[in-house]
Amino acid sequence: MKVIRSKTIGYCSGVKNTIKIAYDLISKKDNCYVIGDIVHNKEVVNDLKSKGLKPIDDNVKDSIALVRTHGIGESKLNKYKEKNIKIIDGTCPLVKRSHNIVKKIDTNTLVLIIGSKNHSEVLALQDIYDKNNNKIETFVISSEKDIENIPIKDRYLLICQTTADVNLVRTLKDIIIKKFKNVEFINTICNEPKKRIDDLDYLFDKVEAIFVVGGFKSANTKLIYDYIKSKGITAHLIENKNQITKDMLNYKVVGLTSGASTSDKVIDEIQKELENA
Ligand code: SF4
Repeated sequence: MKVIRSKTIGYCSGVKNTIKIAYDLISKKDNCYVIGDIVHNKEVVNDLKSKGLKPIDDNVKDSIALVRTHGIGESKLNKYKEKNIKIIDGTCPLVKRSHNIVKKIDTNTLVLIIGSKNHSEVLALQDIYDKNNNKIETFVISSEKDIENIPIKDRYLLICQTTADVNLVRTLKDIIIKKFKNVEFINTICNEPKKRIDDLDYLFDKVEAIFVVGGFKSANTKLIYDYIKSKGITAHLIENKNQITKDMLNYKVVGLTSGASTSDKVIDEIQKELENA
């Protein structure tokens, strides 16, 4: 089978940075912990765990803990600090930018977040405090239906999950701005998923199917997968080479792309497996 790789593939800069911090940390210190899954990539999570970076739990104290790429809310962070846990911040700078934007708003403003209600990045954005230690009020919008329930406020700040779907954000933003007064929109979308999606257009007339490699929980991987399917092209979402099944091997030419948390090692293994099929 011939495999054509997409131009943008493998780790994004944010994931690369957090993973580097993690490996540096375990090379220097024993007894380190990570808060949440460091990235949406089981292989990396398991490898780091085997080398000593353990998931944190409520009994840990007097130690060191790394914050995952998607960030963590302030009240959670403070609970760890109270237990004398030194925090190493592995939050992606673009996610951190969203935190800083939310933190600076005044008390009469409601922060509207376009994103998935259970995504760790969105949950962290809902746990931010102002300089007087008051929790900043937020409201999450995942679909058009949620707009009906937005509370009436003097002012709104509208931001989005970094990996939100650009088209969905555009649609929801237009409706919100039409319906409510005093809405300030700050675009907090990361370009990584878009770059990966734009690069796929090159593949569409050359391949019979596209393999998308990435975590099943990864928002940006799902965006890429959904985009390919929306173009009427067969897409196979897999996390590793063991998930390739016989019915995925009936092609002559396929494309290969990945989410932002997928290592080159896993991509190379899948490419080899497909080429040998
Ligand atoms: S996809 Fe963008 S926001 Fe998410 S970790 Fe990568 S660089 Fe950061």
